[in-house]
Amino acid sequence: MNSFSYTRASDIRSAVREVAAKREAVFIAGGTNLIDLMKENISRPSRLVDITRLPLNRIETLQNGGLRLGALVTNADTAYNEQVESRYPILSRAILAGASPQLRNMATNGGNLMQRTRCYYFYDLATPCNKRDPGAGCSAINGFNRIHAVLGTSEQCIAVHPSDMCVALTALEAVVHVTGEGGDRTIPFAEFHRLPGDTPHIDTNLSSDEIITSIDLPAKGFADHYAYLKVRDRTSYAFALVSVAAALEMDGETITETRLALGGVAHKAVAQSGCRSDAERD
Ligand SMILES: Cc1cc2nc3c(=O)[nH]c(=O)nc-3n(C[C@H](O)[C@H](O)[C@H](O)COP(=O)(O)OP(=O)(O)OC[C@H]3O[C@@H](n4cnc5c(N)ncnc54)[C@H](O)[C@@H]3O)c2cc1C
Ligand code: SF4
Repeated sequence: MNSFSYTRASDIRSAVREVAAKREAVFIAGGTNLIDLMKENISRPSRLVDITRLPLNRIETLQNGGLRLGALVTNADTAYNEQVESRYPILSRAILAGASPQLRNMATNGGNLMQRTRCYYFYDLATPCNKRDPGAGCSAINGFNRIHAVLGTSEQCIAVHPSDMCVALTALEAVVHVTGEGGDRTIPFAEFHRLPGDTPHIDTNLSSDEIITSIDLPAKGFADHYAYLKVRDRTSYAFALVSVAAALEMDGETITETRLALGGVAHKAVAQSGCRSDAERD
């Protein structure tokens, strides 16, 4: 075990300052991914900044009709929130298709976005992996790669992002709010995660000192016509071989808008959308 310091942040500003002040310092929320990575010696933080007491644990209705999900609301509380269940059931379904009840009780929304790949070689310190050790090589490309990407791959990495929640958030065109030493900014969900390219060790466009504060869902929730389908090796907690979030807007018998997002096939959830005016133009 590597030694590390631990501090509990009392406000967002000091949490950001604590992480910015020390190389290899990281936030810890539910710990369901980070602690595993530390136990396996894949992640070796110098300092853990515990953010679980920050006031980011609410779900609030927005003036534009949307819904704001605090970064520290647990996956369970999000999935079973009355507004999420009734207005954004695709998100509720996606979250409940992931992990186990015990894990969802601990896992937070911010942590879900930031969880790392489940590529076998990433977890196996005996094998080269560009994501874990840039420049080392990729064991998956010529190895066992049944759970790997088929879209957006690079010669450096073919890992996939493992989240279910992120597939629904992609279909819903959510927006991520973050704050760091440079101030606040918003990131459209489609731009939050990155393709591997030549830098597969960088999963997201979040700076190391930035904290996710909330995720906004637009007013349109596609509650009447939606599906979340996850294909996996077993029904109890297994990651997606492929998953699909599909949402439709209907006008009688006519589909006026479609949103499709795929999980388990790329380094980020992949989206496709269209609306009646697109079809008419084509
Ligand atoms: C056995 C098992 C099965 C699982 N199955 C699934 C599954 O099928 N589908 C699925 O989607 N997920 C699955 N998961 C993953 C689980 O959803 C994640 O581990 C969880 O969402 C991470 O949240 P956390 O709060 O515990 O994050 P932590 O472990 O605390 O943190 C994870 C990362 O996020 C960063 N972080 C946390 N909060 C913030 C924030 N607010 N701002 C910036 N950075 C932050 C941390 O620094 C760390 O790098 C599974 C996990 C396990 C252990
Ligand atoms: S696919 Fe990516 S995570 Fe897996 S071994 Fe290759 S570089 Fe590492």
